[in-house]
Amino acid sequence: MATSADAQIATGPITFRDLHLRKVEELRGVGEKRTADLHKRGINSILDLLMAYPRRWVDRTHECRLKDLQPGVEAMVLVEVRSVNKRMTKNRRSLVTAVVGDGSSRLTLTFFNQPYREKQLREGLTISVFGKADEYRGSLQMTNPVVDLIGDRTGRIVPIYPQSEEHGIKTWEFAGWVENALSRCEARGILDPLPESVIAELGLLPRHEALRNIHMPDTMETKEAARRRLAFDELLRVQLVLVGRKHQLEREALGISHSTSQKMVEQFIGALPFPLTSAQQRAITEISQDLVAGHPMHRLLQGDVGSGKTVVAVAALLQAVEGGYQGALMAPTEVLTEQHASGVCKLLEGLVVTDAENLFGSRPLRVEMLTNRITGEQRRDVLQGLEEGTVDIIIGTHALIQDAVKFNKLGVVVIDEQHRFGVEQRAALRDKSMLNPQGLPIVPDVLVMTATPIPRTAAMTVYGDLDVSVLDELPPGRTPIETMWASGEQSEAELWAQVREGVKLGQQAFVVCPLIDESEKIEAAAAEDTFQKLGFGELKGLRLGLLHGRMSSQEKETAMETFRRGETDALVATTVIEVGVDVPNATMMVVLDADRFGIAQLHQLRGRVGRGKIASQCWLVTQPPESGELVHEPGPRVEALVQTTDGFLLAEIDLELRGEGTLMDSRQRGTSDLRLASLRSDRELIEQARATAIAIITQDPTLEQHSELADELRILLTASEEEFLARS
Ligand code: ADP
Ligand code: MG
Repeated sequence: MATSADAQIATGPITFRDLHLRKVEELRGVGEKRTADLHKRGINSILDLLMAYPRRWVDRTHECRLKDLQPGVEAMVLVEVRSVNKRMTKNRRSLVTAVVGDGSSRLTLTFFNQPYREKQLREGLTISVFGKADEYRGSLQMTNPVVDLIGDRTGRIVPIYPQSEEHGIKTWEFAGWVENALSRCEARGILDPLPESVIAELGLLPRHEALRNIHMPDTMETKEAARRRLAFDELLRVQLVLVGRKHQLEREALGISHSTSQKMVEQFIGALPFPLTSAQQRAITEISQDLVAGHPMHRLLQGDVGSGKTVVAVAALLQAVEGGYQGALMAPTEVLTEQHASGVCKLLEGLVVTDAENLFGSRPLRVEMLTNRITGEQRRDVLQGLEEGTVDIIIGTHALIQDAVKFNKLGVVVIDEQHRFGVEQRAALRDKSMLNPQGLPIVPDVLVMTATPIPRTAAMTVYGDLDVSVLDELPPGRTPIETMWASGEQSEAELWAQVREGVKLGQQAFVVCPLIDESEKIEAAAAEDTFQKLGFGELKGLRLGLLHGRMSSQEKETAMETFRRGETDALVATTVIEVGVDVPNATMMVVLDADRFGIAQLHQLRGRVGRGKIASQCWLVTQPPESGELVHEPGPRVEALVQTTDGFLLAEIDLELRGEGTLMDSRQRGTSDLRLASLRSDRELIEQARATAIAIITQDPTLEQHSELADELRILLTASEEEFLARS
C-alpha cells in the first residue's frame, strides 16, 4: 500500500495502524462507486477489508458431479444456472425454481420464500450448491439449498464473502481486492504483536500467514489454523480490556476492609425459616472474603430465578452495616424495588445495630426505600438519614444515583438485574463514595446480580472484568414447573380449559403475547387484540388484565397491582413482565408464538411462575404448520424448555443452537465484534486468551511494553464498544 513517497521512510513490518490509515480507494479496481458500496458495509480502510473475513469457504475438492448425486445424501455440486422461474404458491408464498447443470446431468433447485433468488441466479452464472437431493416426479431436486456464487474464481478453496450479493459487490470482486491488498503487504510483511513465546507455546500461526490463509487457503486445514490464530487475537483483545479494567479496579482503587465480625449476618441467617443451600453458603463466603480484603469487590452473582440471590445480597449489605457502613440495593424498576423492599424488610425484622451513641448501646436496623414516588417530607427524611448515616440500608431505583443523594459512609452496593444498567450507572453509584483523609476516593464494594445464567467460558468473555459467584442449586422442596408444548386447535383448547380450571381453584395466569420486532406499537396492538379475543372466547367470564409497553407507568402499575392482589385472574401481557416480577399465586404461564422467543427469554418468562407452594404449569404455544408442510415440531428452543428447567443447561443449549453466533451478536456490530471466535466451540481458546491477557497485564498493567497490542485496542475498540463489553 505504501506509495513511493512514504516507502522511503516506512520500513519494517506493516502494523495494523498502517493498514488502518490506508483507504480502500487506494486499491486497484475500487472507484468511487465501489468505495461508497464498501463504506456502506463499514469498510473504510485496508484493515477493515482484511478483517472482513469470508463467511464460508467452498471446498471444491469435495465436489460431486450431478450424475453421481444420490437422493437423501448431502452433497456439494458446482453448476451453471440454465433457467430461472418465479411464481406464487396457493398460500401466497413465493416459489423460485432454477434448473442447473454441469454437463453430466441436470438438477432443479426450489426456493420457498426467497424471492430475491430470482434476481440472484442469472442464467450462465456458476454457483456452488450444497444440500440434500430428493427424488420428485422421477427427477432430482434440492429444496432451499445453500447457494454460493463462485464466479470465475479458481483454486481449490473458494472464499465466499458476506452479503456480497445484496450490496452489489460480487464475492469474487471482493476476493480480488483482498488479494491485491495482501500482495502489497508481501515485501515488508505484516507485524505480529504477540510475544514469540506465546505464539510458540500455543502453536499459533504468525499473523501475516494467518491473514493470507483465512482469505486464500490452500486447504481447509490451513484455513482452520488461520481462523484459530485470528480468533485468538479477537479474544485476546477483549480479555486485555476486561482484565485490564479488573486489574485497575483491584490494584489502584482504594477499597474498604469491612468488618470481620459476622454477628449480624449470623443473626440474620439464624432467623431465616430455612437453611441456606450450599451454593448460597459458598457465595456468601466468597463475597465475605472480598469484603474483608482491602481492594474493592467487583463481583457478579449469577443464579437462576428462585435460586435465592436476595439472601446472599442481604448478607453482604449486613456485613457493611456491621462495620458501621451503609449498604445500597439498586433495582431496575419501581415494581422490583418495592418488591425487594418489602421482601428485605421482612427478612431483616428485629435486627439491631450496635450504636455507641445510643443510650442502650444499640438501635433497630433502619431500612428505607427511595424511588421517584417517595416525595416531600418522606423523601427529605430519607435523604437526611442517608447523609447523616442513620439509614443503614437503602433500596432504590435509579433515584439512588441522583445528585441530591449523599451517603454518609457507603460501603456495599448491590445491583440487581445488571443488564438493565449501564457501566456509567454502576460507576455513578460507585462514585458516591467517601474520601479518605488524603482526599482520595474510597470505592465501595460492588455486587452485581443477574438471573441470566451463562456458561463459564462465555462468562469470561462477557463478564471478564468481574469475579463470578454462581448459585447453581435451587432451594429444596420446589415443585418443578411442568412445561408443555401446545400447538393446534385441540391442544390449545385443552390448555385454555386447564387455565379456566386453575382459576376456579383460585390461581392466576400470565398470558404472554407474541414478540413483535417491528415496534412496540404493533406489539401493544397485538396484546390488545389477544386480550379482546380471549375475553370473548377462551377466557370468557374471567377477570382479565392487560399490560403492555404503550401504557403509562400509572396504568401499568395499576394492572400489575390488581393482578398481585388477586383481583384479576389472568394478565395478558407483552414481555414487560419479564424481569423479576413475583406473584406467588400465579401458577400458570401461557406463552403465545413461543417459537419467536429466545431460550433465555422463555426461561425468564417461565420463571414468573413456580414461586409459590402450588405446582405451576407453563404452556408454550406455537402455530400449527400450514397445510402442505409436513413437519409439525415444537422447534429446538421450545423443545429445550420442555425438556429441562435447569438454567445453566439451557444456556449451554442456547449457545449450541446459535452456532457461530455469539452472546453478543444482536447488540453490536463493531470492528471488535467476535467475527471468527465462537463462545461455543472456542472454549479452550477463550481460556488461553484469558490466561495470556492475565500474564501480560500482571507484568505490564498499562501495556507500555506492548505498545502494538495497546495500539490495536485503540483502533479496534471504540469507546462505546469498550463500554458494551463491560455492560453486557
Ligand atoms: P432470586 O432473586 O434468586 O430469583 P429470591 O431471592 O427472590 O430468588 O428467592 C426466591 C424465594 O426462595 C424467596 O421466597 C426466598 O425466601 C426463598 N429462599 C431463598 N433461599 C432459600 C433456601 N435456602 N431455602 C428455601 N427457600 C429459600
Ligand atoms: Mg431476585
